[in-house]
Amino acid sequence: MNENVENIIVIGSGPAGLTAAIYLARANLNPLIIEGYGAGGQLMLTTEVENFPGFPEGIMGPDLMMNFRKQAERFGARFLTEDVTSVDFSKRPFKIEVDNKVFYSKAIIVSTGASAKLLGLPSEKRLMGHGVSTCATCDGAFFRNKIVCVVGGGDSALEEANFLTRFANKVYVIHRRDKLRASKIMQDRAFKNPKIEFIFNSVIEDILGEKKVSSVKIRNVENNELKEISLDGVFIAIGHTPNTKLFKDFLELDEQGYIITKGKSSKTNVEGVFACGDVQDHTYRQAITAAGSGCMAAIDTERYLESLE
Ligand code: NAP
Repeated sequence: MNENVENIIVIGSGPAGLTAAIYLARANLNPLIIEGYGAGGQLMLTTEVENFPGFPEGIMGPDLMMNFRKQAERFGARFLTEDVTSVDFSKRPFKIEVDNKVFYSKAIIVSTGASAKLLGLPSEKRLMGHGVSTCATCDGAFFRNKIVCVVGGGDSALEEANFLTRFANKVYVIHRRDKLRASKIMQDRAFKNPKIEFIFNSVIEDILGEKKVSSVKIRNVENNELKEISLDGVFIAIGHTPNTKLFKDFLELDEQGYIITKGKSSKTNVEGVFACGDVQDHTYRQAITAAGSGCMAAIDTERYLESLE
């Protein structure tokens, strides 16, 4: 059976998982990456990425992820384009099931990321990357002198709204209730910002525009009144969900469901299982920070595998 035991399986293929794959493959550890059907992670949903160092002219999100993958393949990383369906981290080697295949591995890196929650409108999917965004830090600069809205009433929504006023002429915050969930300090900052206008008790019914966003149709939930607002961008900031459902029986999660890593490492509560990227970070959530943590996980894995010998 030992012949069928992998050294290391990486689950997930965003910037964190693929950076780990590059380092592991270069270290001759012959990693297997189970990249998932949604391979590439959240960057596959963006258009131009302008803040990833090394690309002074910017690069399209999907192209950047293809480069990551090519770089890992160049050193011999192997890829399986399927979703993991179950794991068992209670015994060694660790067990991973993918549809009708079973894999065993001495070590595991979990880099399954987090998914931005969406409103569930067909138009939101269609216009994603064409005016609809889930990341103001990534896409805000494309809305210089434009009009945008942010959906949500939490800290993320107000932080994004404040950030967007650096570029946009006007930022509407559309919130479904008349009370904000955000902390007092964030609320004060937003209320003081002359470019921000709040639209309370309202939900977006539809996002309009052929090739890019041109307006939103909103409904007042108190009186059902419909209104159309012309704008160029819609930022959805209604929270994220870490993709940790598969691991909840084995790995320690925080109250929001993110994997807890120890100190400045990528180590989880299970020795030999490491986590990196957005699945364990709800603070920074940037491609470059995810990539950095993927490098850490690869180095932690290398040391762990050496310690087994
Ligand atoms: P959050 O606190 O869960 O807030 C989500 C907001 O989106 C809520 O206002 C919620 O409305 C609204 N919402 C949820 N589903 C919706 C839907 N389907 N349609 C319309 N609105 C919807 O999430 P978050 O703002 O991303 O923050 C997550 C955590 O990170 C929080 O603990 C937050 O404090 C923290 N954080 C901190 C900072 C900071 O301190 N600088 C910055 C960002 C995030 P309801 O209010 O009606 O539920």
